[in-house]
Amino acid sequence: MKAIAIEGYGGPELARVQELADPHPGPGEVVVRVRAAALNHLDLWTLSGSLGIDLDFPFVLGADGAGELAAVGEGVEGLRAGMRVVVNPAVSCGLCERCRAGEQSQCVSFRMLGEHLPGTFAELVTVPARNVYPFPQHLSFAEAAALGVTFITAYRMLFTQGELRPGEWVLITGIGGGLALSLLQLARPLAGRIFVSSSSEEKLERARALGADAGINYRDKDVGREIRRLTSKRGVDLVVDSAGGAGLDASLRSLVKGGRVVLAGATAGATAEIGLRRLFWNQLRIIGSTMGSDDDVAAMLRMVAGSGLRPVIDRTFRLEEAQAALAYLESQAHFGKIVLEVG
Ligand SMILES: [Zn+2]
Repeated sequence: MKAIAIEGYGGPELARVQELADPHPGPGEVVVRVRAAALNHLDLWTLSGSLGIDLDFPFVLGADGAGELAAVGEGVEGLRAGMRVVVNPAVSCGLCERCRAGEQSQCVSFRMLGEHLPGTFAELVTVPARNVYPFPQHLSFAEAAALGVTFITAYRMLFTQGELRPGEWVLITGIGGGLALSLLQLARPLAGRIFVSSSSEEKLERARALGADAGINYRDKDVGREIRRLTSKRGVDLVVDSAGGAGLDASLRSLVKGGRVVLAGATAGATAEIGLRRLFWNQLRIIGSTMGSDDDVAAMLRMVAGSGLRPVIDRTFRLEEAQAALAYLESQAHFGKIVLEVG
């Protein structure tokens, strides 16, 4: 099979097309013939070696994928070759205390495709059978592939960890990337008012077209102060943030008393200084979130099927153009997902 595999750590130029042996499913596994694979920042981190994981080379990149089942392993019931499926990129053991509690994203041996395990930038990928789901019929393969990391993460941030209730006001930081747009699309039918922040006027404008009520440019405005002004000093109920860093304190200053911040990333900095007096006096909560449980994945897919929403795709490339696609992701110029079309 053709695959985008790396032989060492570095930049997008290392993501070359290679001819690798076709995988075969072991017991309890399936092989997916990948038709589309979506890019995530995770791919750039794996590529650069910044995750500190010792990989066996050649290593196939890519977490997100959708396609058709090519082969079904021994003991797998209810699945057959030809079914259209989307892949949950998070692989859990199914046996530990957290898995048995239904919290697969808290698994003690939690692993991701394209980070610890061979990924989806390939014509074929092997995954445990419980990691594939039929996807909503109104979606193309490219759109289904774009549901992986970002929509699973967004669903858990908003509903499971963030406990978003109808009519609540939400701030989504750093609009424009795949995760922030997933948060906007999933929150829109339920939330009262949705505020977004970005350093780009163009991205704020496009987010308003997708249903955001107001945008704040954090390059020239303090987000906390601006949220208080826009909400007549009330603040928002929930901030969903994947940037962390110095912005966390601004997120806390944006909250109504009793409000909560759900954090699912630290792209702007792995440490933060926050006002502790505000935290206890206003009874705020800071909640972590990573990927989603099997229940989160199923619920997200039901929501997408019912609402008819389509993930925002910025641009598609062919598998062979993975270097250009990764360089484009690195440039941060995109609005929505970048997808590789395979075969
Ligand atoms: Zn487990």
